[in-house]
Amino acid sequence: MSDMPLAKEITCKSALTKTGIPGFQYCLNPYVGCAHNCIYCYASFMCRFSGHKEPWGTFVDAKVNIARVLEKQLNARRAPEGKLIIGSVTDAYQQAEAYYGLTRSCLEALVRRPSLEVEILTKSALVVRDISLLAKLPGCTVGFTITTVDEKTARVFEPGAPPPGLRLAAARQLVEAGIPVWVFIAPVLPGVGDGEDALSALFRELKRAGVKEVLADTLNPYPAVIQRLKKVYREKYPAALMDLDLCSSDRGLYRGSLRKKLKTISSRYGCSLSVI
Ligand code: SF4
Repeated sequence: MSDMPLAKEITCKSALTKTGIPGFQYCLNPYVGCAHNCIYCYASFMCRFSGHKEPWGTFVDAKVNIARVLEKQLNARRAPEGKLIIGSVTDAYQQAEAYYGLTRSCLEALVRRPSLEVEILTKSALVVRDISLLAKLPGCTVGFTITTVDEKTARVFEPGAPPPGLRLAAARQLVEAGIPVWVFIAPVLPGVGDGEDALSALFRELKRAGVKEVLADTLNPYPAVIQRLKKVYREKYPAALMDLDLCSSDRGLYRGSLRKKLKTISSRYGCSLSVI
């Protein structure tokens, strides 16, 4: 995990932001930036809006007043309703959360005023700290992003994130506590995480953890993401470069064959599957 120093403290004017993410009305991100520093991160465009000149993954701002602002928004005459995603452009349970507890304070506010259905997307085992709060939120679900169960590969692509084994253990704890858990394979890494063996190993571990629902995301070929991935592929996985090229030049074709493979493997392990 990264040894990045603690976050810079900032304030925010709004805690809930309207979102166009399908199925959600609002998103909430207690931090700007993400120390997990994933090579394939789609949220790196946030650099432009953050005022930071440093590369994505090397800065974190903590919105220290976010819980108070959220409380006001929840207590407004017309309280927000619908589905809320926590962690759409940052991980709300990255290392800084262990110190600041901003996500936890937001959950406490949401428990006091439960007008929104909460979904949390994370790569961090720290989410288990808040099990008792999650259990009080009607309809709350937690998604763990896991792209591979191979710890070495995870260190290459997600250098600041907790290893997949810890995420699986956390998923199991949540399942045992009765919190609905799903896993987001996002993105499926062409030529690295999309082979029969790699996917079977992943689904085997999901079964062990009691996870029965999976959403798989075919890599989106954003130029900046492909550029970063190509650099890593050239250094560490040169034989997989062809697969990366195929996925970025004809995503539809790649997704078609991936879907078939995933369907066979997921049904073998009794998992329900959607591919986007
Ligand atoms: S955890 Fe998510 S937001 Fe954070 S760097 Fe990785 S992909 Fe980006």
